[in-house]
Amino acid sequence: MYPLGHLGIALTATRLIGYVGYKVKAGISHQPDELRFENVSERAKKWISRSLDTRFLLLGAVLPDIIDKPWGLLLMKPSIASGHFLCHTLLFALILFAIAVISRGRTKKAMFALAIGTSFHLLLDYSWQDPHTLFWPLLGWQFDRGTSGSFMQASQDAFHWLVTSPDFILGEVIGGISLLITFGRLNKEGWRRFIKSGQL
Ligand SMILES: [Zn+2]
Repeated sequence: MYPLGHLGIALTATRLIGYVGYKVKAGISHQPDELRFENVSERAKKWISRSLDTRFLLLGAVLPDIIDKPWGLLLMKPSIASGHFLCHTLLFALILFAIAVISRGRTKKAMFALAIGTSFHLLLDYSWQDPHTLFWPLLGWQFDRGTSGSFMQASQDAFHWLVTSPDFILGEVIGGISLLITFGRLNKEGWRRFIKSGQL
């Protein structure tokens, strides 16, 4: 998947999961105030807004490509032409989660958001189709070479896939609309808050 799909779907899915999770938890705990539907919904929205540093979630959603694509395609050609390298491994995501667990305060929040964004990236890349990379180094130290042997060939393959893949087009449209809906409703104050604290 490409940037709009990664960014928009990771953002919307994370907010939705947080929102539903909060409501389920409120329902289970049976606190009198929280049994009122609107009240819980409002609280859930505020909680997800407070808890999630959206800036780092969005960064995490594209981080594996930002690091691996240039590294894999340009620096290590032709040995690793797929563009999926260290940052497309489960190990990378787990390291980010581990750093989040041992961190404190704002760093903890940022690292959790980064780890969640990166996990969504792996999911949306269908990483399970390349277990050699996903579970590296459990299945061997070598990374898959991909289908191309040069940067030019890799670019041509990527373009061909781009124009013929309904997955790509659908992902970009859904992601683009999600981003438009989320950020389109922000006023000046909303943008300021987002840039300063990552809250939406
Ligand atoms: Zn990727």
